[in-house]
Amino acid sequence: MSGKLIVISGPSGVGKSTVVSGVMAQCDTLQFSVSATTRPMRPGEVDGKNYYFVDHATFQAMIREEKLLEYAQYVGNYYGTPEAPLNEALAQGKDVLLDIEVQGALRVKARRPDAVLIFMLAPSFADIEKRLYGRGDTAPALVEERLNRARWEYTQAPNYDYLVVNDNVDKAVSEILAILTAEKCKTAERLSYLKEDN
Ligand code: 5GP
Repeated sequence: MSGKLIVISGPSGVGKSTVVSGVMAQCDTLQFSVSATTRPMRPGEVDGKNYYFVDHATFQAMIREEKLLEYAQYVGNYYGTPEAPLNEALAQGKDVLLDIEVQGALRVKARRPDAVLIFMLAPSFADIEKRLYGRGDTAPALVEERLNRARWEYTQAPNYDYLVVNDNVDKAVSEILAILTAEKCKTAERLSYLKEDN
């Protein structure tokens, strides 16, 4: 049985990366999909682990050669999901988690309708503003751009299968793990158990 494609989106400032790391740490059967991006590496990030950091020409070549399941532009940079490693993991029965923005998530859903889409919300929009300004590592104009993007992303949340409110990291992690468990228990996933010779 092939693995599940799990897509998590949520605007900058909802604490998504912390929650995603928590989910990855607690689920050793889950493989993280490492995206390619043209954005510069941040301190502490590792090439090939957080992202494949590539230049524009390389990214354009990946688009041309159809190596990406989806890609999108986000606040001036390109981000995309390499398709081959993802297909390989799914074929081996591993579940794959994508941490991608909304346009990309909706493209994945259009191409792979069985993908499970989870949208992460902050308890309130004011929390997002507080977090983005409080982080201090992003210029105010860029913060405003990210906030505008977050407003638009919120309008797309009803297209997702699940909404997880990150008012507490442990709770958000366990809700996502519960979603994974529930998805695995769906009838369509377990039909083989109904056969007498399984
Ligand atoms: P950051 O620059 O903060 O790491 O990521 C910015 C946004 O890009 C986040 O919302 C993240 O989920 C999204 N992102 C990361 N990788 C991909 C990808 O491969 N495709 C798309 N569409 N978005 C991505």
